[in-house]
Amino acid sequence: MTFSSIKHFLEKIAPLTKLSKKELKILETSDRVLKATLVVNGKQYPAFRIQYNNARGPYKGGIRYHPDVSEEEVMSLAFWMTIKTAVADIPFGGGKGGVKVDPKKLSEKELEELSRAYVRAFYKSLGPQQDIPAPDVYTTPQIMAWMLNEYEKLVGHKAPGFITGKPLEFGGSKVRDIATALGGVYILEEAVKKVPLKQKTAIVQGFGNAGMNAVILLAERGYLIVGVSDSQGGIYNPKGLDVHKLVAVKEEKGSVVHYGDGTEVTNEELLTLPCGVLVPSALGGVIIEKNAQKIQAAIVLELANGPTTPEADGILHQRGILVLPDVLANSGGVTVSYFEWVQNNSNTSWDEAMVKRKLQDKMVPAFNKIWEVYAQNTFSFRTAAYVHAVQKIVDAMKGREITNNYNIGSKSLI
Ligand code: NAD
Repeated sequence: MTFSSIKHFLEKIAPLTKLSKKELKILETSDRVLKATLVVNGKQYPAFRIQYNNARGPYKGGIRYHPDVSEEEVMSLAFWMTIKTAVADIPFGGGKGGVKVDPKKLSEKELEELSRAYVRAFYKSLGPQQDIPAPDVYTTPQIMAWMLNEYEKLVGHKAPGFITGKPLEFGGSKVRDIATALGGVYILEEAVKKVPLKQKTAIVQGFGNAGMNAVILLAERGYLIVGVSDSQGGIYNPKGLDVHKLVAVKEEKGSVVHYGDGTEVTNEELLTLPCGVLVPSALGGVIIEKNAQKIQAAIVLELANGPTTPEADGILHQRGILVLPDVLANSGGVTVSYFEWVQNNSNTSWDEAMVKRKLQDKMVPAFNKIWEVYAQNTFSFRTAAYVHAVQKIVDAMKGREITNNYNIGSKSLI
């Protein structure tokens, strides 16, 4: 979603949440846009950190390395983080960072230098109680470790809560590797109590961190996986695919299309094949006006960010297909990031069972709160999630008198 369509969407839901003009204006405006030019080996890379809203707690959001990074994209992602932390009910606001770079063209040394330069540029505005970064597209646990090390050198003390998504030996949390998929599965388990499935089958688009783990976790819970895909294409078999074989084929041959026992399909075709649950777990903008009429799933579980356009969302809602939106369905990742921060700040480490239990304890009420709003209204489940989140953010702003003190250009930050 572009930032102008986010504004349009906010204006649409403003009457539903009885937002005043002033509150709407604040929600449409980021607190702070930080920009820098990072220089590595004589080459310049534009870098951003956008602190969108901290009414509910310190800013939280990943740092993306990608050639397409722009201020507008980072702004949209920072807004989404503000909504997502409210939906997941974790005490954070929203922020996001990015560097316009093709990391595949950098040596490891250059990547390390770029990551350290990012921290040097922005560290005065970051910190465990201020703004907590994390990985995003093409940023890894190793990059988080370099960034943490640079931050600790600059401030002169240990501060593991500065960044999340770290390797375990740097204070990372157990379960973070599967958190997004596991959180999504917990949400789905609640949803099927409300919308029982006629067929317990699933199609998953994307076979990376989110998609592959979703396939494994769904199969463990008795779902028949009938279709999967990655960037090279998809494979479909209504009799079911063997999950262990899929993982092995992906690892050995680079793509699930080499699975063999099934029909090869395109990514576009995969989305419209019959199944109980469709799990987009790759790119944004794949369910669009053109294919929304053809989707045959009863439930769409959005593990990817922004896989459904607003027009398609409207069509799916009209057709009675329940869309579990990204801001809820993939919020398991940021929730375990929050757990990582809690563990770091209290100098402790939780075992796997404890992290999983705490994740479930967050996901289940998050779903039910939104279901309450949804059941009392006629709008879509996604709109219900936004209405619920916006209400929480505005309540926090009111409690902190941000709405009263607000003047455009000098928004109160603390
Ligand atoms: P990843 O890089 O681990 O995996 C991406 C997968 O998508 C790969 O299997 C790749 O082959 C596939 N893919 C790429 N282009 C494709 C195409 N055109 N058609 C079909 N598949 C394609 O990424 P990830 O971490 O699994 O993230 C996937 C999605 O989930 C993204 O939208 C991301 O923003 C979202 N997400 C991930 C997390 C997380 O913790 N990993 C958290 C929140 C949201």
